[in-house]
Amino acid sequence: MPLNGKSPLTQSTSSSVPSVEQDSSKVQTCNVNILEFPYIRTRTTLTKKLANITTSPNACKKIKRRRNSETSSDEERWLNAIETGKLDDVDEEMKKIKDPKLMTARQRALYDTDTSGFVEELIALPSGYKEKEKPQTAEEIHRAVLKSQKRKQQADERREKDKQKTMERLLKKQESNKQRSSFRNKQSLKSSCPKITYISARKGNYIVVPPGHEFLLKAQIPLKPPSSKLCYVRGCGNRKAYNCSTTKVPLCSLTCYRKNILSNSNQ
Ligand SMILES: [Zn+2]
Repeated sequence: MPLNGKSPLTQSTSSSVPSVEQDSSKVQTCNVNILEFPYIRTRTTLTKKLANITTSPNACKKIKRRRNSETSSDEERWLNAIETGKLDDVDEEMKKIKDPKLMTARQRALYDTDTSGFVEELIALPSGYKEKEKPQTAEEIHRAVLKSQKRKQQADERREKDKQKTMERLLKKQESNKQRSSFRNKQSLKSSCPKITYISARKGNYIVVPPGHEFLLKAQIPLKPPSSKLCYVRGCGNRKAYNCSTTKVPLCSLTCYRKNILSNSNQ
């Protein structure tokens, strides 16, 4: 190949020059653009046209394809065009690009604002919101009126229901308030009843009786313990320890027991 990628000739031409084999960096930019374009092309016919006419990457792609498929005579034609700087004669698309008359007003505006080429435009996706068509025929108008009436009626019904609900809620609230107040009254009655209070404190334990009332429990005298019994045996004078098993008399010890048994048998 006689072409050198860094030659001034190729650099003077636009980016749509068939530079695929010459400059790898250009090929890269081309490919990047090609990748991005289908995204736009799917949108509207306007952008489709725009992409076809204007995009240098597109042209680059086409040229690439052509070069691969067509004969070497075509290649030579291309090379000549590049050397003389008259690419427009060879490429139909290039012609279109250079001629502003063939562009739409929008394309021209784009071309003017950005001299390096065309600016990619992102187009908003349809939001899915459809504006309602206004009723045209008498029947449509009639239907629309009926619809709006129905809507109004439903709204009224809803409002009425809401009102009813709030009324009920308020009434319930009042009732519950009444109940609460009656409960409070009962409580206040209870508090007015006389109460005996028991206080357990450090100073001592008290039972407080309301004034005008007597203490219900009466004071009691302490009971005296039963007087201790003495031994039955005469002259002993000791305290009783147990009762004799046979005579049932109080005794103090075994000696007194024997004495008691002896005196009994003697009798
Ligand atoms: Zn005794």
